[in-house]
Amino acid sequence: MMPRSLTENGRTSNSTHSPRAFAGLALIAIVLACGMLVGCSGTHVPDVQIVARADWAGPDDNPVMERLVEHEPDRLTVHHAGVMDDGSVAGDEKMRRLYKFSVKQRPWGDIPYHYVIDRVGCIREGRELKYAPDTNTTYDTRGHICICVNGDLTKQPLMESQYRSLVDLLVKLAADLDIPNDRIVGHQDAAPGETTCPGVLENYIKNGWLIEDMESVRAGKPYEFRTTEYVKAKPAD
Ligand SMILES: [Zn+2]
Repeated sequence: MMPRSLTENGRTSNSTHSPRAFAGLALIAIVLACGMLVGCSGTHVPDVQIVARADWAGPDDNPVMERLVEHEPDRLTVHHAGVMDDGSVAGDEKMRRLYKFSVKQRPWGDIPYHYVIDRVGCIREGRELKYAPDTNTTYDTRGHICICVNGDLTKQPLMESQYRSLVDLLVKLAADLDIPNDRIVGHQDAAPGETTCPGVLENYIKNGWLIEDMESVRAGKPYEFRTTEYVKAKPAD
């Protein structure tokens, strides 16, 4: 016999303990659990594929530990490489060349960036997040997590695949490191008057498009890739 229970209006019912009611409760539990997985705020964080440092580095391409400085990441800074990239050098090899340049021709402990995005949108890990980045300019790099988009983006176009990888990576890092939108900037915002980096990507930052597109990803909605021309900044007065 089906167990019976009292309903709100005092009548007995067998519906709350029926198999259908249990299935309904289970469905509600699953929906709630999924809600918790995307965060209490409902933020969607994309699953970002990143090539680990160990997967591109040669056997001797180790960080020079005594040159690295620990820091607490609290902002995200976007760069371009500032070097023309026609895609003829494979991404892994470009990372190895950047590593050698960094430790031999610069006094740096590793690749200056935490992540590098190649011309087809593949993301590779650079130095560990716990170490401050390096720069040719004079800003205090402590706290900055630096992401480099390959190419000279004052002369060659930003590729859509690069941009989409950048947006996804920024959403993930902002979520992981609890970084608010107003702490996501371009290199030239951190080092005013010293650099044109990150080229045309600065338009996306200044126009608010980068944050808008990040918000679309967070909401699990698609967004259109916008194109824009690089305009050389006027020299400082
Ligand atoms: Zn830069």
